Amino acid sequence: MTAAPQPSPPKTTLYCSSCGHESPAEGDWIVHERFDTASVDCPDCGTEITRRRRFDRPPIVASTTAATEAWTASWTHSCTGLTRLWRSLLV
Ligand SMILES: [Zn+2]
Repeated sequence: MTAAPQPSPPKTTLYCSSCGHESPAEGDWIVHERFDTASVDCPDCGTEITRRRRFDRPPIVASTTAATEAWTASWTHSCTGLTRLWRSLLV
């Protein structure tokens, strides 16, 4: 057997800058999906944590890695196939 170990990606935690609420990216955040955008809002105070255009590929920029990870995780609930596509594009 020569299977290499597959390190699992670290859990991404999102924080609300307004009230300090914290939860995993796949946690209790409120996701608002619209025609061409989707936002993630704080369940406690309603502050928008992040927003993405739904049909764009995530930008491959180091500074957005955390947000991209969070967004990818948030999509896992509703669109696992798209998540796989994104991950394949990011690698
Ligand atoms: Zn909040």
